[in-house]
Amino acid sequence: MERPPILQVDDIAVTYNELASALGGVSLSVSDGAIVALLGGNGAGKTTTLKAISSLLRVERGALARGRILYRGTDVTDIDPWRLVERGLVQVLEGRRCFSRLSVEDNLRIGAFVRRPSARAIADALDRVYAIFPRLKTRRNTAAGYTSGGEQQMIAIGRALMSRPSLVLLDEPSMGLAPQVVEEIFETIGRLNREDKVSFLLAEQNASVALRHAREAYVLESGRVVAHGTPEHLRQIDAMRDAYLGAAPAPIED
Ligand code: ATP
Repeated sequence: MERPPILQVDDIAVTYNELASALGGVSLSVSDGAIVALLGGNGAGKTTTLKAISSLLRVERGALARGRILYRGTDVTDIDPWRLVERGLVQVLEGRRCFSRLSVEDNLRIGAFVRRPSARAIADALDRVYAIFPRLKTRRNTAAGYTSGGEQQMIAIGRALMSRPSLVLLDEPSMGLAPQVVEEIFETIGRLNREDKVSFLLAEQNASVALRHAREAYVLESGRVVAHGTPEHLRQIDAMRDAYLGAAPAPIED
């Protein structure tokens, strides 16, 4: 029998403040072991989709108006967010949120606690994060606020990895970073996918880099999926090329 996708989103609609409609029926799936991109411009609904999946809408006065979310074939719609992390689904929020006064290592350690691990398990998880991001090891005692934008994105991803996830939802990992740093981050995503079998759903405005690394992608516009397919397929759609692939690069911060 075919395994269910690790994530299946069925026709979700989202409203904010009980009225403004942000998503009008989005469906997508991520097969186990895949990297899937969620593309679209500003306000298309990428972040809302990720937050709906990881049950973080309530924080923003948002709610699911309909639809359901299945994780490994089990309905997890509106489940408490930390229960999802316990089960292996974790989100890296947009904007690389770090605790700026805490050291890099303490920022990473925070990510481990939902699973109440042993000291040994925390040490192992840290070793793995440092193997993936050697730069974080050299800066382990530095306050996160003094690290570069690229390093902060690595901390945010590293913190998610500390919970030993199976599926990571990644919101705009390229935002505000120089092209070579973006490339480094995406190379790492590919490596985690190959070596640790982590699946990814990543929201990106930078379609060209996302399509180079993803197996398939969904394109959102005004809260709806307007295209879906392999990178080869999507590159052939003229509208897609004009709207996203020719877009000016994001501003560079470091
Ligand atoms: P961006 O890349 O700019 O973050 P996005 O594709 O992630 O864009 P969303 O942030 O999901 O898009 O926004 C989708 C729609 O929902 C937009 O119309 C936006 O204005 C609206 N929206 C997002 N967050 C809120 C909120 N907290 N309250 C009310 N409306 C919101």
